[in-house]
Amino acid sequence: MAQYLKRGASAETKADADRKVRDIVEAALADIEQRGDAAVRDMSIRFDGWDREDYRLTDAEIEACVDSLTPQERKDIEFAQTQVRNFAQVQRASMKDVEVETLPGVVLGHKNIPLNSAGCYVPGGKYPLLAGAHMSVITAKVAGVKRVVTCAPPFQGRPARAIVAAQALAGADVIYALGGIQAVGAMAIGTASIDPVDILVGPGNAFVAEAKRQLFGRVGIDLFAGPTETLIIADEVGCDPEIAATDILGQVEHGPDSPGVLLTNSEKFARETMAEIERLLQILPTADHARKAWETFGEVIVADSTEEMVAIADDIASEHVQVMTADPQYFLDNMTNYGALFLGSRTNVSFGDKVIGTNHTLPTKKAARYTGGLWVGKFLKTCTYQRIETDEASALIGDYCSRLCALEGFAGHGEQANIRVRRFGGRDVPY
Ligand code: NAD
Repeated sequence: MAQYLKRGASAETKADADRKVRDIVEAALADIEQRGDAAVRDMSIRFDGWDREDYRLTDAEIEACVDSLTPQERKDIEFAQTQVRNFAQVQRASMKDVEVETLPGVVLGHKNIPLNSAGCYVPGGKYPLLAGAHMSVITAKVAGVKRVVTCAPPFQGRPARAIVAAQALAGADVIYALGGIQAVGAMAIGTASIDPVDILVGPGNAFVAEAKRQLFGRVGIDLFAGPTETLIIADEVGCDPEIAATDILGQVEHGPDSPGVLLTNSEKFARETMAEIERLLQILPTADHARKAWETFGEVIVADSTEEMVAIADDIASEHVQVMTADPQYFLDNMTNYGALFLGSRTNVSFGDKVIGTNHTLPTKKAARYTGGLWVGKFLKTCTYQRIETDEASALIGDYCSRLCALEGFAGHGEQANIRVRRFGGRDVPY
C-alpha cells in the first residue's frame, strides 16, 4: 500500500477554487455577449491595465517585434518552430482519407477536412510563453486551417515582443494583443472588431481553461489545458534526487496552482528529493510561485511496486509524466492516462515545452483519461460519406433497413428504405 509523505490540497479546496473561477468566467462571458467590444476593453483594462481602441496589431507593430529579435533569438525560435512543424507534418501525413467497398456496390469513406478558422491562445500573463505560438499556430497551419487568429496578453504593459514575433514567424494571419477570458470570449463569440472562429485552442491559466470549457459547443475546443501539472516517476537507478527535484521545481514555477508530484519506490529517495527541493527553493529566481505551488499542491508518494506506480500514475492522469526509473519502457507499455510521457533522465518536460517538437498543449485536471494533447488531428474534421453503385446493393441494404425501421416504429425512415426497394429492387413493398 502506497505511503504519502506529503499530500496536496484536499478535493474540497480544489472544488471551491474551481467554483470561484467558474462564476467569474460565467459573468465575464455574459458581459462579452451583451456588450461586445466594450466589455472586452473594460476587462483588458481591469485585468491587464491594457487599453486600445483596436487590439489587432498592425503590420508595422508586428514587424517591429520580429525586428527586435537578436539573430540568436530568431535562430532559436526558428529551430523550435522547425521541430514542431516537422513532427506535425509527419502526424498530418498519417491522417489518411479512406474509401472502401464494404459490400458489393456499397462504398464508404471518410475525408479529413481542415477547419476554416482557428483561434490560438498563447498564454503570457506571468511569463511570455512564446512556445505557445509554435504549438498552436504551426499545428493549425500544417493541418490546413485557412484563417489562423491568435491572441496573447500584453506583457508589462505592451505587446509581448517575443510572443508576437513567434506568432508571426509561425504564420498567423491575424494577431491580437489580448489576454484571458476577454481574448477567448471575443474569438468565440465574435464582436464588432473580432470575427468569430470555429475552434479555440491553446493552454492558459484557470480562467482561460474554464472559459474555453464554457464556450465549448458554441465553438470547438482542443482540450482542457489549464495550469500545468507534472508527475515525476523516479527510482535510485533512473536518476538522482537533484534531477528529480529540479524537474519538479521546473514545472511548479508555472504558477501557484501547478501541482508537482513525486512517485517513487524508495522512501530514502523521496526524503532526499524533498530535501533537495528545499535547497533549490533557496536559489531559484522564480521561487515565489514555485514554493506556493509546492507547499499547496505538491505530493510525495512511495509505492510498493512498479505495478502500483503504474496504477497510481494512471489514477493521477497527469499532464506531464517524466519516467526516470530503471525501465522507462515498462511505463510506456503499461500506462494509459497521461498527456505526454518523457522517458529517461536525458529528456524532460522543459524540452517538450519549448523545443523538441512534440506539442506542449496537453490535458490537465484528469482530462488525460479521455484525450491526448493538441495535434493536427484536432484541426481536422473526419467526415464520412457513402455511395451505392448498383441497384442490387440499394435493394439489399433497403431490405435490412426497412425491417430495422419497423422494429423502431420509425415509419418515415422505413419508407425511405421501402421506396428504394420498390425502385431499385423491383419488389412491391407496401407504403
Ligand atoms: P494566461 O495568458 O493564461 O492568463 C493571463 C490572463 O488572465 C490575463 O491576461 C488576465 O486577463 C487574466 N486574469 C488574471 N487574473 C484574473 C482574474 N482575477 N480574473 C479574471 N481574469 C484574470 O497567463 P498566466 O496567468 O501566466 O498563465 C499561464 C498558464 O498556462 C499557467 O497556468 C500554465 O501552467 C499554463 N500552461 C498550460 C499548458 C498546458 O498545456 N496545459 C501549457 C503551457 C502553459
